[in-house]
Amino acid sequence: MRAQVRPYELIKAKRDDRALDAKDIRDFLSGYTRGTIPDYQMAAMCMAIYFRGLSSLELAAWTEAMLQSGQVLDLSDIPGIKVDKHSTGGVGDKVSLCLAPLAAACGLRVPMVSGRGLGHTGGTLDKLESIPGFRVDLSIAEFHQRVRDVGACLIGQTDSLAPADKKLYALRDVTGTVDCIPLIASSIMSKKLAEGIDALVLDVKVGSGAFMKDLSSARVLAHTMIEIGAQMGCQVVALLTDMDQPLGRAVGNALEVAEAIDVLKENGPADLTEVTYALTAEMLKVAGIASDDATARGMIKRAIHSGSALAKLEEIVSSQYGDPGAIREPARLPTARAMVEIPSPGDGFVASIDAEAIGLAAMALGAGRDLVDGRVDPAVGLIILRKVGEGVKSGEPLIRAHYNEKKRVEEAVARILHAYRIESSPAAPRPLIYEHLPARPRDPARSKAVKRQKR
Ligand code: URA
Repeated sequence: MRAQVRPYELIKAKRDDRALDAKDIRDFLSGYTRGTIPDYQMAAMCMAIYFRGLSSLELAAWTEAMLQSGQVLDLSDIPGIKVDKHSTGGVGDKVSLCLAPLAAACGLRVPMVSGRGLGHTGGTLDKLESIPGFRVDLSIAEFHQRVRDVGACLIGQTDSLAPADKKLYALRDVTGTVDCIPLIASSIMSKKLAEGIDALVLDVKVGSGAFMKDLSSARVLAHTMIEIGAQMGCQVVALLTDMDQPLGRAVGNALEVAEAIDVLKENGPADLTEVTYALTAEMLKVAGIASDDATARGMIKRAIHSGSALAKLEEIVSSQYGDPGAIREPARLPTARAMVEIPSPGDGFVASIDAEAIGLAAMALGAGRDLVDGRVDPAVGLIILRKVGEGVKSGEPLIRAHYNEKKRVEEAVARILHAYRIESSPAAPRPLIYEHLPARPRDPARSKAVKRQKR
């Protein structure tokens, strides 16, 4: 029998680039979750991983240990393929609000555990909570029932799903180990696999408003998550999409809900509509409901034209105790007391808009939070009146800011003016969708192993 490996030996092994055994990884993570391994040893391990990485076997063991640190939902009594979408986060990214009802209206079951906004990026939960009465704190039993009967449910992470990740993420945040691809990939995948999904579509954002600033690191992150999915028996497909300027025109919680409703009424901004349709099409294909992109797009168009996607959003809202009247009449969503337009300092064409700076400007108005338990103002935010490639004359508005507190406007204006670059000739348009990365075949043995542990 092999002697028990001490945490100290395991940290040194990773530091010196020696391979870790799956059982040792499991023991290390379960000790950390139970509190027998202290934060300082986990911090040292994360830093060693930051520099040395994890092999694909180590990464699968690490992810599985995070997944098994809590409850893994079993949705197998619900007929059909359960598919979620996850975005790595950005500014103005309200795709989940349009996509969940759209995919459910096309016949998919969408169990979605979402996050809150932190720093410059927005969070789906904050946007949903701007709908009067909407609750994201449903129990797992309520979540299960709504996925079965309504087709989609959107809630926040509970203490029982991947608790190791919750603890580890907070530690990484203060030890300089967040921006580490194997740790990001295992963090995201452990939470998503805990939802009991059969397949996952990833929207890996690239650009100034994204975690991944360049295409090659976005590609590595996407491939890493696809590989984890294959090893854990979950089909994972990824699109790499642009986040070099905000998505759509609205940034801020209630403003983004109103824009998502516009998409379901076929009246939304072209970029947001296209990213929503492309990701929903991937979900329909990976679930086997549509055989190809043209069929998927046809289903999506029918769900939009018939009004069934919009009706599904109303149904989701009322099933989560929200006011469905706010979907029929978006004027019932919270509105800010005042507005101000920020004029262009010169003539020309918008060459770039730094998405992170726009996210920080919305945050300065109160739309986001800088502490995990901070409050957000649901009504405030920005409407982008000039996007990249559009012409503008000096004094014409670039952005309309919706605010409640005048003292917050000055900082937002400074950030907005800093975010815009105006040039004399129009820039070449950037692609909206850079790459499509297909799923890898699932490992059937691993798939059975994960399912067995669900019960
Ligand atoms: N999002 C997550 O859920 N985890 C990370 O580590 C980074 C982004």
